[in-house]
Amino acid sequence: MNRGNNFDPAEIAKFTEHAANWWDLQGDFKPLHEINPLRLDYINQKAPVAGKKIIDIGCGGGILTESMAALGADVTGVDMSEAAINVAKLHLLESGLTIEYLVTTAETVADERAGSYDIVTCMELLEHVPDPVSVVSACAALVKPGGHVFFSTINRNIKAYLFAVIGAEYILNLLPKQTHDYAKFIQPAELAKWARQNRLNVADIVGMTYNPLSKIYKLATDTSVNYLLHAQREDL
Ligand code: SAH
Repeated sequence: MNRGNNFDPAEIAKFTEHAANWWDLQGDFKPLHEINPLRLDYINQKAPVAGKKIIDIGCGGGILTESMAALGADVTGVDMSEAAINVAKLHLLESGLTIEYLVTTAETVADERAGSYDIVTCMELLEHVPDPVSVVSACAALVKPGGHVFFSTINRNIKAYLFAVIGAEYILNLLPKQTHDYAKFIQPAELAKWARQNRLNVADIVGMTYNPLSKIYKLATDTSVNYLLHAQREDL
């Protein structure tokens, strides 16, 4: 497989199908809207974003992308769903922000722009691609020496299956059915290993929990379902 073809057309089709709802706060992407302040805060604390050059890989309709631009970052958003990118571009008319959006993969943009970014964000994407290691490697290539990379994904264990698939898709209807494939979930130790193999030093791993009774998401030490990983590229 050509590195730039590291995407699953069936996955892209799923996101394309729901693209029109991207900015509906009560719609298919409601969980992404709800977790956004948490992850934005986390990123901004570890690597203040104002004035930084950032690339957001798998940006979808631009929820995190816009929030970083609103804090004064110079952001590029990349996604393989043209429909999602079109929605993201359209939303700029509403927000008045300036963001560069590209329909491409992490690997292709890394070939063209290696070492160009202070911060790389790649949220809720790794569990949707055929070869996640290749995406980690592309993110490591995109960041400048000493720069920061943030990933978020879903852990792989029985609890993650019950919460992220059965609970979120079938009981609580937080996400459309078949959004996630359990086999593609990634354990924190696996992601940390892939990061290190690409000269990304893992600085922190934090969990994100959801309480279905209070309907509140929180950052927590519990990484058993959703989690974020922060890494810093080694200096040359
Ligand atoms: N990162 C965003 C959206 C997550 S949804 C957020 O957290 O708010 C996952 C997104 O990844 C979808 O928009 C989908 O189209 C995109 N995607 C899936 N595989 C991809 C690939 N190989 N390259 C680029 N984007 C991809």
